[in-house]
Amino acid sequence: MSTIAAIATPNAAGGIGIIRISGDEALTITEKCFKSYSGKKITDMEGYRAAYGQVYENDSPIDEAVVIVYRAPKSYTGENVCEICCHGGIYIMNKVLRLIFSLGAIPSEPGEFTKRAYLNGKMDLAQAESVMNVISASGEAALNAARNTLKGSVSKKIGEICSSLISSAAALAAWSDYPDEDIPAVENGALLTTLHSAGKELQKLLDRYDSGKAVTQGVNTVICGKPNVGKSTLMNVLSGCERSIVTSVAGTTRDIIEETVRVGDILLRLADTAGIHETSDEVESIGVNLAKDRMETADLILAVFDVSRPLDSEDRELLEICSKKRCLAIINKSDLSPEFSATDIEKYIPRCITLSAKNEESTDVIKTELENILGTAGLDFSQEMLAAGRQYECAKKAKDCINEAVTALEAGYTVDAVNVSIDCAIEHLLTLTGKKASEEIVNEVFSKFCVGK
Ligand code: GDP
Repeated sequence: MSTIAAIATPNAAGGIGIIRISGDEALTITEKCFKSYSGKKITDMEGYRAAYGQVYENDSPIDEAVVIVYRAPKSYTGENVCEICCHGGIYIMNKVLRLIFSLGAIPSEPGEFTKRAYLNGKMDLAQAESVMNVISASGEAALNAARNTLKGSVSKKIGEICSSLISSAAALAAWSDYPDEDIPAVENGALLTTLHSAGKELQKLLDRYDSGKAVTQGVNTVICGKPNVGKSTLMNVLSGCERSIVTSVAGTTRDIIEETVRVGDILLRLADTAGIHETSDEVESIGVNLAKDRMETADLILAVFDVSRPLDSEDRELLEICSKKRCLAIINKSDLSPEFSATDIEKYIPRCITLSAKNEESTDVIKTELENILGTAGLDFSQEMLAAGRQYECAKKAKDCINEAVTALEAGYTVDAVNVSIDCAIEHLLTLTGKKASEEIVNEVFSKFCVGK
């Protein structure tokens, strides 16, 4: 396997920068450009040891550094690994990296270190996917969920489900393939119990993913409402800072302003739009169309209304759009005298709260409503949780195959027909953990990683 290298820390100025090298030649390449003050050679060092010294290019010192040595198989990738911890300047890190390339290493692909860890059996695909979730976790709950998957909780659960299906499939196959042997018949009742229990466990994982996604990956959310209803104020209250431009002139927010805010454990990927009012202003109408597109694709809409102004045709257009989407209606400016009542809104959007965005406590009201809508209230993040959409799809397909097997069994189909569906479920579960994933799937998973991970 070739020896790869990359900057493992962000490509930005920092106290320390780490250049990671992995492969058969990792130690010899590092030795060619590093001299420890103690005189100890890198190739003579045991694993989990560090050496302090200088990085040299053609005998000229270029930086002081600490090199950490890991020996195969006891490293992240399972290969020989050196980590050169030098000063974290962009120029110096790239200079050291170029030097490592000139000595024989090649640039790593995105996620190639973790891909090698997977290929060398250090972790399965479900665990590898959670590595990125650990890195991108924005709060305690998301971090807990990602760490559990990284520790192997999902893989263990899927493994258990898979084993029960494999035992059933094997018993069915033995019984139907060798009718003359004295193999006990597989009881339909016992088989149904196994299938139902596997289906139930998978459904729990699927449900938890849907709710957990709001915490681990975030909800694609749009705030909309006509100009001056208080969208920007609300967004600022939610994000805890003056992010959008708030003025009392209608139509100030013309572009879509995006921000990720955390409300309790929930992560909202929030887009503040221009509203959907009729306008002859060319620039504004672009904003309005963008807002409509965003609402189409959003997972959640926060529709804001100003209670101090009567509902007009623009509000009604918004209500129509929102009635078909997952939406929370926010009737704002409760401190002013009302021109309409909540029931006018609830006819279209059943989930509706009245508050004043100027009051910071309104975030608690929004938080409780969001937890209800997104199903995150009481979600236990210490339980196993699927770490990626790909895993969700595999679990869903496996569940569908199990349903097919149950239907076939109940309809009195042949054992072979039932077994085809059980095999199909097993196949999808093995793809989930990567025990049987195709090269394309593996490449696709790691292409989403950053270089150096
Ligand atoms: P947007 O155009 O929908 O983004 O509205 P803004 O957030 O810019 O708010 C428009 C105006 O309404 C600003 O002057 C805000 O200070 C004011 N405003 C926002 N929320 C409230 C509220 O709860 N009560 C009152 N009285 N004024 C508010």
